[in-house]
Amino acid sequence: MTTATMGIQNAFDVEARRRDFPILATKVAGRPLVYLDNAASSQKPNQVLDAITSYYREKHSNVHRGVHYLAQQATEAYEAARDTVAAHLGARDRHEVVFVRGTTEAINLVAQSYARPQLQSGDEILITQLEHHSNIVPWQMVCEQTGAKLVVAPLDEDGQLRLDAFAECLGARTRIVSLAHVSNALGTILPVAEVVRLAHAQGAVVMVDGAQAAPHMQLDVAALDCDFYAVSAHKAYGPTGIGALWGRRELLDAMPPYQGGGEMIRRVTFAATEFAEAPARFEAGTPNIAGAVGMAAAFDYLNAVGLEAIRQHEAELLAYATERIAQVPGIIPIGTAPDKASVVSFLVEGIHAHDVGTILDGQGVAVRVGHHCAQPLMDSLGIAATARASLGLYNTRQEIDALVEGLDRVRELFA
Ligand code: PLP
Repeated sequence: MTTATMGIQNAFDVEARRRDFPILATKVAGRPLVYLDNAASSQKPNQVLDAITSYYREKHSNVHRGVHYLAQQATEAYEAARDTVAAHLGARDRHEVVFVRGTTEAINLVAQSYARPQLQSGDEILITQLEHHSNIVPWQMVCEQTGAKLVVAPLDEDGQLRLDAFAECLGARTRIVSLAHVSNALGTILPVAEVVRLAHAQGAVVMVDGAQAAPHMQLDVAALDCDFYAVSAHKAYGPTGIGALWGRRELLDAMPPYQGGGEMIRRVTFAATEFAEAPARFEAGTPNIAGAVGMAAAFDYLNAVGLEAIRQHEAELLAYATERIAQVPGIIPIGTAPDKASVVSFLVEGIHAHDVGTILDGQGVAVRVGHHCAQPLMDSLGIAATARASLGLYNTRQEIDALVEGLDRVRELFA
């Protein structure tokens, strides 16, 4: 899809982009919805909704195994989506893109198919203190299965990875490093390329959790030089239930699948099965075809709007939100790294985050409150929960003003 066919001009026009998202016209409690929960899941533009509907209206059948017209249409749509995702991630080879349910499944796939067969007792998996549960629990499971040990690299007081301490955690037994590209709880952008250099120098492979990077920045696995990269479509304006794992082809080809079934085989007898090559060997069963089509449409949309234009808009909005929220008396910011993406996490002194979220909801403002699936991070900060406003390409300064008015109201009610 080209920019022209999507009807998007080059200059970033937030009001025009808002019109792409029908759900943004929703009223909550009689007020316009202010949707600031994009890190949990972003809303979907017409371009994505239309791509999914057209697929079902015009092309749907099962993929790969049919000779009839619709089977070919569906296969072409699914495999074209893989090309789009591969190009968007900066992959050199389309065989390096495995469609999965999302980041969580991608990390579990690497944990079970790459790590589990390789690791031995005493080997180490290195993560960081700010990881989402989906980048902790799969590794804990593999540690349980293999006798490997989970090592955690610490943050500084702004919520940045301490590279010196990270380097000290890397050792001869470190086999895998797995880290977020962007923290969902703090917004910190991690120095992935630097981490990869350090890890590769020790012979470790690097898995990157790109769930929170995909909506905000140009992805480029070749530039990062990582070994695995995971994304979820639903955080990047695409549908739920679909995501991608990118992996170096030589690694994927050497990995046994951890799920078996149709689609992933070359030949099956009752005695044994020969697996297909990657990526098919990791895509057992009927895939989420419409999801893949929707994911590709979301990446087309991001490119048509322009990732650089989105980055600039969001950076300006983040600076405005950070400043405005900090001016509310009693606000304690959580996560103050200079290099951040679109997340403002905070506490309101003396008021539970859940009360903050509920009162804001009464004013049409949707934020997320809780531990953000990062309980170990919360524990290390000595807090149970934060309120988190997370921004997307369609958010505006007026919406930040509505959030700040809402916070004033929270304080009035608890005065
Ligand atoms: N990693 C990070 C940093 C996230 O923010 C999330 C979701 O919130 C995930 C992983 C898991 O993504 P999904 O639930 O789409 O698999």
